[in-house]
Amino acid sequence: MKVLVTGGAGFIGSAVVRRAISDRGYSVVNVDVLTYAANLANLASVDQDERYSFEQVDIRDGEALEQVFRRHDPDAVMHLAAESHVDRSIEGPLAFVDTNIMGTATLLQAARAHYDSLRTERKEAFRFHHISTDEVYGALGPTGFFTETTRYAPNSPYASSKASSDMLVRAWGKTYKLPVVISNCSNNYGPFQFPEKLIPVVILKALAGETIPVYGDGSNVRDWLYVDDHAEALLTILERGRLGEIYNVGGDAEVSNLDLVKQICKIIDQELDRKTPSEDLIKFVTDRPGHDFRYAIDADKIKSELGWTPSVTVEQGIAETVRWYLENRDWWQAIQARGHQQERIGLTKGTGA
Ligand code: NAD
Repeated sequence: MKVLVTGGAGFIGSAVVRRAISDRGYSVVNVDVLTYAANLANLASVDQDERYSFEQVDIRDGEALEQVFRRHDPDAVMHLAAESHVDRSIEGPLAFVDTNIMGTATLLQAARAHYDSLRTERKEAFRFHHISTDEVYGALGPTGFFTETTRYAPNSPYASSKASSDMLVRAWGKTYKLPVVISNCSNNYGPFQFPEKLIPVVILKALAGETIPVYGDGSNVRDWLYVDDHAEALLTILERGRLGEIYNVGGDAEVSNLDLVKQICKIIDQELDRKTPSEDLIKFVTDRPGHDFRYAIDADKIKSELGWTPSVTVEQGIAETVRWYLENRDWWQAIQARGHQQERIGLTKGTGA
């Protein structure tokens, strides 16, 4: 099987590419324009493999996409390319509208033209798998879970751009009969995550002995999923998910931001044998505007229908992740050398695009 993966140089996309090649033996075409969030070093373990190829293409460029489809003739698409950071979407929402909505529509058109050109038996096997987020459902109070039928109520520009892209995928399935499947996942963490998201920011701040910012009072709750467990879920959905369906993916691992930060600090103190607790570096800072209080996923459908289940607990996954950042300093120091210093953004002051 040959899979066209968009956003394969990003955090989750690279985990999917590595697993698709090493575990499944698939051929992969990685379509990625290489924004600030991309890192080809994430693919070092597979980039010499003859089953891997790379196309530096923007998903908003329909002509270039059509050429890629013609050149590689894929059997499936896994669409992960996106602007993905909520704080950036608050700072500059239009880039999110552009990439996540227009980019998805452009990709859908190219995939549709490719699908229409296939012979019947290849048509039957073809899949367009759209990878989305649980943030489309908005915020939960202290109880309850998101299911696949929860009403969409996105609150941030990021979440609303992803919600729009989900709707486009649905429409291309209904109107043009493109065989689509959608998955909505909770917060991911693990190796190779760009140091602007909570977990790598906390790890790097703690390692540097710098103030660790916690938004608001730290009581916001997220469900955390280890990135390799997400990659496995995504390949499982591609292979066995029912067409036209939505699958929620989560880690059954709800933790408040403050507890998570404290957990990371403890692991760092143990690993580095620190006498002064890293927790002392925590500082509560102005909350994120429109900060959703709680996300929690009911992942029963993917578990019961497809037999997927997370392989690690959040405690194991976090410990593994902290050790990875300790052992792979070259990876994040190269990013810092490019000027990314985990600075705070997204306080609604800017009107930038
Ligand atoms: P990421 O920011 O690490 O990577 C995104 C990748 O997309 C980058 O390699 C970037 O270069 C590429 N890209 C961006 N714009 C592009 C364009 N116009 N054309 C081609 N490539 C482009 O993101 P991530 O955290 O790996 O998330 C991947 C997907 O999973 C996204 O669609 C995101 O919405 C979704 N998701 C993420 C999480 C999470 O916790 N990170 C949770 C649920 C869903």
